[in-house]
Order: sequence, then C-alpha cells, then structure tokens
Amino acid sequence: MKKLVILGAGTAGTMAANRLSRVLNTSEWEITLVDPNPVHYYQPGFLFIPFGVYKREDAVKPKQAFIPRGGKLIQTAVEEILPAQNKVRLANGETLSYDYLIIATGNDIYPEETPGLAEHEWGKSIQTFYSLDGAVALADALRNWKGGRLVVNVVENPIKCPVAPLEFLFLVFHPARHARPCGTHLRHPSPRRIYQAHCLTPAGRYAGEAPYSGGAGIYDHGSEPGCEENRVFR
Ligand SMILES: Cc1cc2nc3c(=O)[nH]c(=O)nc-3n(C[C@H](O)[C@H](O)[C@H](O)COP(=O)(O)OP(=O)(O)OC[C@H]3O[C@@H](n4cnc5c(N)ncnc54)[C@H](O)[C@@H]3O)c2cc1C
Repeated sequence: MKKLVILGAGTAGTMAANRLSRVLNTSEWEITLVDPNPVHYYQPGFLFIPFGVYKREDAVKPKQAFIPRGGKLIQTAVEEILPAQNKVRLANGETLSYDYLIIATGNDIYPEETPGLAEHEWGKSIQTFYSLDGAVALADALRNWKGGRLVVNVVENPIKCPVAPLEFLFLVFHPARHARPCGTHLRHPSPRRIYQAHCLTPAGRYAGEAPYSGGAGIYDHGSEPGCEENRVFR
C-alpha cells in the first residue's frame, strides 16, 4: 500500500484529500491527514460575524465531516519532517512514513510580533477578525462602540484574503444595512457614529492588478513610504 500523508486538514488539506481520493486507486493508496485541531473553521465567515450575519457556530464544523471515505485523520501536530527518510515525526510520539507528502499547514497571525499591538489595548480598542475568537469579540466591541475614527490596519503582508480588510469597510458602510442579505439582518455599529474610516496597508495596493486594485476609485494613495494611507470614506 502506498501512503499519501497530508499535513494540515484545513481548507487546502481536505480539498486535496477529497480530490485525490477520487483519482487515486484507493486499494493502492492510503490517505492520512494530520491535524491537532478537530474543528474546521470557515474563515471567510469570520468577516460576517462582527455584523451579525453569522454567529460563531456558523463558522465551525467538525473536521471529520470533510475527511473522504477511506481517509484517516490523526489528531496531533506534526513536529518534524524528515525528508531524507520520507517520514514525519508527530507530537503524539508516532512516526509516519510516506510515499507522497502534502504540506498544508496554512498560516496564522502573530500580533505579538508587532510592538504595541498585542499589549494593553489588544481586545479593547484593537481588535481582529482574522480569528474566530477575535471576530466574536469584535462583534461585541462594535455593538458597544461609542464611535470615532475606525482604522483597518494591515500590519504586514502576505495575509489571508487580501481583500478582506476592504470588504470589512464595505460592510461597515453597507447602504443596505437594514436589508436582509443572506436572509438575515446585517447588525451594525451605527455608521453615523463613525466619522472617519481609514484603511492602512504596507503595500502600495490592496489586492489584484490595476485598475481593479484601485477599488473603483474610492481611495488615493498617500505619500508616506512604507505605510500608504488610503482614506476610504468620510
Ligand atoms: C477573514 C478571512 C476572510 C477570508 N475570505 C476568503 C474568501 O472570501 N475567499 C477565499 O477564497 N478565501 C478567503 N479567506 C482565506 C481562506 O480562509 C484561506 O486561504 C484558507 O483557509 C487557507 O487554507 P489552508 O488549508 O492553507 O489553511 P487553513 O484552512 O488555515 O488550515 C491549516 C490547517 O493546518 C493545521 N496545522 C497548523 N499547524 C499544524 C501542524 N504543525 N501539524 C498539523 N497541522 C497543523 C491547522 O490546525 C489548520 O487546520 C479568508 C480568510 C480570512 C481569515
């Protein structure tokens, strides 16, 4: 039996497992995924939690639901890849051998690497929607916010879904905020309480290629090197 080992059973790992299980002869190939977290996060849904379109439970599912028939999920982390031996060493003490290895361990945010970011204001005036807990906390923060200047700050690139920061601003100012997108109310901080919103990015543009990266002309690049400031709405 040949062994396909996939490290990480997130979006990429489970998609690879499902697609390959359809094309590989399963009497010849054994598919094993390794991931310490039993929960699958629907990360695009994090963007909608602050606005009440999704709740926490809408963005989570058991990972097992995405493992193809015949595939196996080992719930532990990979600690070391030993390419010379075609093996991986796992946190549970096991060593797995492979004929083919897919690394799909994704990426994450590390706010503690930016001085001042994950310190006393983290979770108060500084929030994130790039994690489930962060998105839920941001929903509360926006609901209780007294108003003022809203800054969406992309600290460093690359980030997952480069367009998400702009999408966040679009949702804040969504003209149909009292309508029912996705069959539900978009719950909002009152935009009337936001007198300025900025989107800051270390890149010269947000996502995609010009002219689309210009976002329909709603922002102008600032002149400060290294930190372009784009005033989106006033
Ligand atoms: C707010 C937000 C909005 C987004 N919107 C969109 C969108 O509209 N459209 C779109 O296409 N994409 C969007 N994305 C991006 C999309 O969610 C990611 O690109 C996608 O989840 C990446 O898949 P991945 O498998 O690489 O990583 P993940 O889905 O993060 O999976 C990585 C997996 O690896 C596991 N892992 C980590 N370390 C180890 C280890 N040592 N051993 C074993 N397993 C490990 C983790 O537990 C995790 O399950 C968005 C993301 C965010 C955060």
